[in-house]
Amino acid sequence: MLTPCRADFRLIAFCCALLPALLPGASAAESTCAYDIGVADAEASRLDMIVRCSDPSLLDTLSPRDDAATSYIERIAAPAGQAAFRLDLSGFAAASQSRDGALRIGGSLLVTPSAIIPAPRDGDVDLAFTITGGDAALSLPRGIDGAYHLSAGRLWDAGEWVFGKFRRIGVDAMPDLSVVQLDAHLELSPDDLGRWIGDVAASNARFWGMAPVDPTLLVLMPEAGSGGLSGGRVMAAGGATILLRIGERARLPDLYEEWVLVHEFLHLGSPLVRDTGIWFNEGIATYFEPIIRARAGWKTEEAVWLEWIDWMPRGVIDLAPPGLAQARRPYWGGALFLLLADIELRRQSDGRRGIEDCLRAILRQGGNIAIRWSTEAVLAACDREEGDAGVLSGLAARYLHHGAQLDLDALWRDLGIRKTDSGGIVFDDAAPLADARRAIVWGGAGRHWAPIGAYRATP
Ligand SMILES: [Zn+2]
Repeated sequence: MLTPCRADFRLIAFCCALLPALLPGASAAESTCAYDIGVADAEASRLDMIVRCSDPSLLDTLSPRDDAATSYIERIAAPAGQAAFRLDLSGFAAASQSRDGALRIGGSLLVTPSAIIPAPRDGDVDLAFTITGGDAALSLPRGIDGAYHLSAGRLWDAGEWVFGKFRRIGVDAMPDLSVVQLDAHLELSPDDLGRWIGDVAASNARFWGMAPVDPTLLVLMPEAGSGGLSGGRVMAAGGATILLRIGERARLPDLYEEWVLVHEFLHLGSPLVRDTGIWFNEGIATYFEPIIRARAGWKTEEAVWLEWIDWMPRGVIDLAPPGLAQARRPYWGGALFLLLADIELRRQSDGRRGIEDCLRAILRQGGNIAIRWSTEAVLAACDREEGDAGVLSGLAARYLHHGAQLDLDALWRDLGIRKTDSGGIVFDDAAPLADARRAIVWGGAGRHWAPIGAYRATP
């Protein structure tokens, strides 16, 4: 079942337009600040931080990027060449009660690191974190020194950290994925949760041809009194963290019907593009989510096209003047742009190649969600990969910065798709774009995908 509104899902990247693009090969930080973070007790009511910097003058510039925590952080006496801080984490969480600051759920504490880490104000400083005294879950890569590493310039993008009491859920065959359940009740067993998450992760890795980001952390945030999935978001800097709000009464079959986690996993495989808005990233996740579920056996081909007939009209508005780059929440505008690209690429290649092939090529070049690319770079990379016919740049010239009207009814007719009065769908294989249509959901005409897991959609 489709959740009626997709506008509440966010791919978080604060101030992206203000930050320089971090392209593959960007220079490494020259200065380092090392943080020893001590967790005071089993519920992580307090954190003690000792900081040493290779440039001692940086110690005088340390402060959290978000001022909200300042009154809960006390700077205490420290030996020469060090700075020491004491954070009343329980107090801050009680005041904040926000995923963007800190939040306590049972014995778990969910913290956004930019809110609490006193970091240097300027410069591209490597932050190295060592955590002792209690359990913690975070998605940053670890260096040979065993510490977690993050560039100070990416602190705003870093995913949430979990302290205190939480449950780790094993996902077989996905060693690069960690899953934790915050300390609240879910009716689903850890085994069932692990199986479903493993199936979603496997369907995503199969689509991309690889697991997109290592490490990846999935945080399950139970919500009392509800079922299903009520929201998700991804944050990535070095590794990626998916935060998923899941109702305590969620049932296993319902979760395979949900789009949210498939959508969030899809975000992992593309570079973060923000210089023309969110259309590229949200378009990929919106467009390919039903396709991935069809290939996994969780959605029928007919249901994919029915969903698009119902929802793509929202994208027509996004593509109209003043253009996709100006649209406020162009989830479906981005999806429609990719559908148009897919149709044209399939048409030119007799169905053999589509927009997914160029997206995979970008990922193979290192373009995952932990990296920023410009719109120009992704369009050029796609056009190069697809034989330089200029399909992507041509569509961008038409729809991105100026916008143009699109006759969606005519497009459905050309594809040979008609919704019946009873809510079903009829395909016309004599339509001019019928061959392209047949290639889109399966990634090539007649291509077969082995189902994943035990759930199957009923026609
Ligand atoms: Zn999204």
